[in-house]
Amino acid sequence: MIIKKKKAYRVVVKQEFCKGCNLCIEYCKPRVLASSPSLNEMGYHYAEAAKPGECTGCMACTLVCPDLVIEVYGE
Ligand code: SF4
Ligand code: SF4
Repeated sequence: MIIKKKKAYRVVVKQEFCKGCNLCIEYCKPRVLASSPSLNEMGYHYAEAAKPGECTGCMACTLVCPDLVIEVYGE
């Protein structure tokens, strides 16, 4: 029997460019992303990967982010 290892993904938010619109958080079905309690230099609560191990690599967050500040890598 072959057991396939679940593929891992790494979500990178360029936090200094995030305007805190929360679109990526709304579209992430596994609820990987959350609004940080901290502020970035522009004064926004930036998005961050609160549960990175739950990422399915669907790329929805990268597609909805108006400022293209999210990247997802398969590892
Ligand atoms: S790639 Fe999909 S599952 Fe992973 S953080 Fe983005 S929206 Fe969520
Ligand atoms: S969609 Fe982009 S700009 Fe909006 S909160 Fe997410 S990372 Fe930030």
